Amino acid sequence: MPPLISPAAIEVFTHVITRGPVPRVEIARATGLSFAAVTKAIAPLIEAGYVREHGSARVKAGTAGRPVNPLSVVDDAGLLAGIKINPGELIGVITGLTAEVRREARADLTADDPATVIDAIRTMITELTAGLDHDRLLGLGVAVSGDVDGRAGVVRESVRLGWRDLPLAARLREVAGIPVVVENDVRALTLAEHWFGVGLDTTSFAIITIGTGIGCGLHLNGDVVEGAFGVAGEIGHLPLGDPDLTCSCGRRACLETVASSAAILTSIRNDADHPELTWTEALRRAHQGDPAAVAAFARAGSAIGRAMATVVNLVGPEVIQVVGEGVADFDLYEDRMRAAFHDHVFGAAERCRIGTRSHSFTDWARGAAVALLRSVVRNGTRTK
Ligand SMILES: [Zn+2]
Repeated sequence: MPPLISPAAIEVFTHVITRGPVPRVEIARATGLSFAAVTKAIAPLIEAGYVREHGSARVKAGTAGRPVNPLSVVDDAGLLAGIKINPGELIGVITGLTAEVRREARADLTADDPATVIDAIRTMITELTAGLDHDRLLGLGVAVSGDVDGRAGVVRESVRLGWRDLPLAARLREVAGIPVVVENDVRALTLAEHWFGVGLDTTSFAIITIGTGIGCGLHLNGDVVEGAFGVAGEIGHLPLGDPDLTCSCGRRACLETVASSAAILTSIRNDADHPELTWTEALRRAHQGDPAAVAAFARAGSAIGRAMATVVNLVGPEVIQVVGEGVADFDLYEDRMRAAFHDHVFGAAERCRIGTRSHSFTDWARGAAVALLRSVVRNGTRTK
């Protein structure tokens, strides 16, 4: 990656990555930079092969000699690896500079201890990059659930993986020999939405993830909210759940005690007195109108709706995008979720639009790749 050096160059490159093909004049208008500043910023990127100019007619009549051809990023000029770590499983992707997934992989983990996981990541990177030009690999982004210090690359606590104070980025850099960025999984997804999803049309949005965990990523005033201590948007642990139930985090009454997929399954199992009942069977029962299964999803939907109203009342985003594996069965949550949201949202904040986006198992890994991409672009060079 060429060093971008100036904030203007970073801004221009970001604009081309996320909105290309786009002519210089439009970049100037959107960024507030002068046409000359845009041209100056983009020249070394064209020369280094990261940005291409479309068409052959360089000058259009009436534009005072200014080139009007749109610019776009050369997608495979840089390749990014992204991996999501789940308990017992790794999901990986290779993307180009515009975050299009080019390759994907999934692997079972024999154990979740750091040494086993790091070794499995190294193997997955080798497999994912086989036959590719390694000089173009800009590094690896890793997404982990829990309390993650993205700047230091340290997993401070991941309850699901049983990790505490793990310097994961440093350990991976040692074995993989490439730059590594580690990020909280929901924040990584939010970074991807900012550059390549809902963030293209709004200046403030929240991502709410439903499924194994309930999370929230916030994008406000031009940037993703990180929190003074690296924690923000942990709506899964708002006290909106059942006060009699203990959350996986050890606290009582968290939203996840009623709204995570595990909590929904436990509720349906208990009611059916069937401890082995599978998630697939739980979904089947709910879709067929089994009262206990329907009630479990309704309870989850209500709680998530209250959490959404809480987010909107606090920070007032323009849009909430619901994502995550739970979206596949959104019909089971949706009515109660929207009803609870409208019951609790305050005043004009009710105008906040709620949308959903279909979920693919590679989305989390792609988010990790985008976290790396942003780090590479913003630091102006490789993140070592
Ligand atoms: Zn909790």
